[in-house]
Amino acid sequence: MAQDFKALVKAKVDSQRHQLGELSLKIHSHPEPGFQEHKASKWLTQYLEANGFAVEKGICQLATAFRASYGNSRPSIAILAEYDALPQLGHACGHNLIATSAVAAAVASKPAIDHLGGTVIVLGTPAEELYGGKIIMAQRGAFKDIDIAMIAHPSTHDTATAKALACISLEVEFFGQEAHAAAHPEEGINALEAMIQSFIAINSLRQHIKDRARIHGVITDGGQVANVVPAHSAASFLVRSPDEAYLEELKENVLNCFIGAATATGASLEYRWGEVQYAPMRNNLTMAQLFINNMSSLGREVQLENANQSFGSTDMGNVSQLVPSIHPSVAIAPTGASIHSPKFAEAAASEAGIQGMIDAAKAMAMTVVDLLTSSENVDQVKKEFAENLS
Ligand SMILES: [Zn+2]
Ligand SMILES: [Zn+2]
Repeated sequence: MAQDFKALVKAKVDSQRHQLGELSLKIHSHPEPGFQEHKASKWLTQYLEANGFAVEKGICQLATAFRASYGNSRPSIAILAEYDALPQLGHACGHNLIATSAVAAAVASKPAIDHLGGTVIVLGTPAEELYGGKIIMAQRGAFKDIDIAMIAHPSTHDTATAKALACISLEVEFFGQEAHAAAHPEEGINALEAMIQSFIAINSLRQHIKDRARIHGVITDGGQVANVVPAHSAASFLVRSPDEAYLEELKENVLNCFIGAATATGASLEYRWGEVQYAPMRNNLTMAQLFINNMSSLGREVQLENANQSFGSTDMGNVSQLVPSIHPSVAIAPTGASIHSPKFAEAAASEAGIQGMIDAAKAMAMTVVDLLTSSENVDQVKKEFAENLS
């Protein structure tokens, strides 16, 4: 039975190929940064409404978020759509392809929902890049009635699991005392020196932190002119760790670097940790294997893990802590055309990009079929998730 429905969902994606390609290119040529994705959100919900989905716009008090559902029984399977672009670089993370593959997979799943029950939901999740839109949506209850979630991200390799670090931002400022740098240096308190000391202390700390933890920052204010002792300095940092417990430890260590510099220089410190904290990705291997099998039937060899895979952080990590999730990578560009580069932005509008989006849509819709045709699959997915929690 599963095979019959898989043939149906593939045929449905193929029948929409032209429209999906156009939608994807339209979003690509109108890049909108986080929380400003009004056009993308409108075009995606129009497509879903035209295909019989019940659409709620502006959910979770976020203007560009949406929820589009089809069906009204469990399990409820969410396919997540990202559609934010990067300032200056446009769709250099290929979120136009993520969005289109999500709506394509959901629409293609309709015949399976009609015959087997269950619900497929497209969750439009804005501002992945800078603001962790899914974290805010999770805090506001968007995943409460979701059983399983998936999203497919374009990449330079085909890999079913993702590595993502826990991450939090830190804004720091030092306040000192202005003085003539030559005539009365003894009257000054140097806020820039406090910042430099902080960077040096963090460099020392970095030698002794765990593998895969990351601390990196930039100075956003280091004073204005050379002949005035800088009375203000500011920096923006990210602290990342493979797990959340170690992130807590690192946060304390990093903060101590700034406190130490404040003590040494006499400058006063103010700091703010980011309101959203990215969680590491918990990959559901049962789902990952279903996705691999489905991609393989399309002629794409997908690895379960990729030893050379780079890792950043994603708000899908937070979703994966709440419900069983996958975040596979789908190759659309050669190695070397790294995401967040102009080359990758080009790939996101290329024929290979469209093909990757089509394959991702088919494999996600087929994975929905696997879940709807076999309660054992759903049980196994949930069992694995529960075991990993304990
Ligand atoms: Zn990105
Ligand atoms: Zn991305």
